[in-house]
Amino acid sequence: MPQDHYAVLGVSQNASPEEVKKAYRRLAREHHPDTNQQGAASGERFKEITRAYEVLSDPEKRHRYDTFGDERAVDGGLGDFGGLSDLFSSFFGGGGVGGGRARATGRGADVLAEVELTLEEAAMGVEREVNISTLDGCSECGGSGSAPGTWPSPCSECEGTGQVQQVRRTIFGNVMTASTCRRCRGAGEVILDPCLRCGGKGRVAIDQSLTVSVPQGVEDGAQLRVSGRGEAGMRGGRKGDLYVAIRIAPHENFRRAGEDLGCEVPVPMTVAALGGTVDIPTLDGHEPVEVAPGTQSGEVVRLAGKGMPRLGGRARGEVVAWLRVVTPTGLDDEQSELLGHFAKLRDEPAGGRSLFGKIKEVFQ
Ligand SMILES: [Zn+2]
Ligand SMILES: [Zn+2]
Repeated sequence: MPQDHYAVLGVSQNASPEEVKKAYRRLAREHHPDTNQQGAASGERFKEITRAYEVLSDPEKRHRYDTFGDERAVDGGLGDFGGLSDLFSSFFGGGGVGGGRARATGRGADVLAEVELTLEEAAMGVEREVNISTLDGCSECGGSGSAPGTWPSPCSECEGTGQVQQVRRTIFGNVMTASTCRRCRGAGEVILDPCLRCGGKGRVAIDQSLTVSVPQGVEDGAQLRVSGRGEAGMRGGRKGDLYVAIRIAPHENFRRAGEDLGCEVPVPMTVAALGGTVDIPTLDGHEPVEVAPGTQSGEVVRLAGKGMPRLGGRARGEVVAWLRVVTPTGLDDEQSELLGHFAKLRDEPAGGRSLFGKIKEVFQ
């Protein structure tokens, strides 16, 4: 952002031209490099003061500054202003040009791989081999892209700076712009004798396999970052990272909720009625659990410490088993008779009547 010219002069936005002039004169006297002992710092301050006065003393410039926040903007907005890079280069004297060689040594891209685990593997933690296609630094040229024994030459177009400066005439006067050199694409150098192995790119495509250790308790959708195992950077730039996305396959028994594992456990009607033992599945095998006589569908058995491990910790969640009482089907004659007898003892009308009879009974 440009300086706040009003603040620099210490006047309000409504200050009259006289007030602006008075403020300027006072400050200029105070900060003039010739009369001030503070040297360079004061020189900067003096420039700000002068600049502020230049704008605020000119009614036209002051109006534009008030309207657009920049005295060089014209009515119609910043669209006519020649783009942001012009703006920056005029503010900062050329956008870093002359500040040494701007070599494009880009960091390599990140690589994404995916690993599918069973819930059991996610619970235990596991080492998995992942295969990735990536770019490696060329061993022939050491990543430089130049044939062994040769070196890149400074780019003649930009004289090795990677940027080209242009002076453009605009309605605001001459504006210097800097843009990335087209010949060397900002690298500052060109390869005249490219390495045959990588074709001058400095990187070669490879298929790699590496072992990734997946921590126990990992969640579906988690991404593991393996630092520095992505693509090689450009011209010796830093390597990217490898991200391994974790997918956990659906489990036949369990639904996972964080550290807890939910499941549904069928309980034979007789066990539910009389009480007995029910096998609750866990990731470590089945665990026998006693259920009381008169157990109902929807009752829940919790096994603490049998769920998923907490990521990076020892504690484990619980298995939450929903009991579902199963009505027996496919009864033979003897079983029907016994249940009929049971129903009679309980005074529960059942057996022998047609479906129609039952429906009639319900609607009576
Ligand atoms: Zn090479
Ligand atoms: Zn160049």
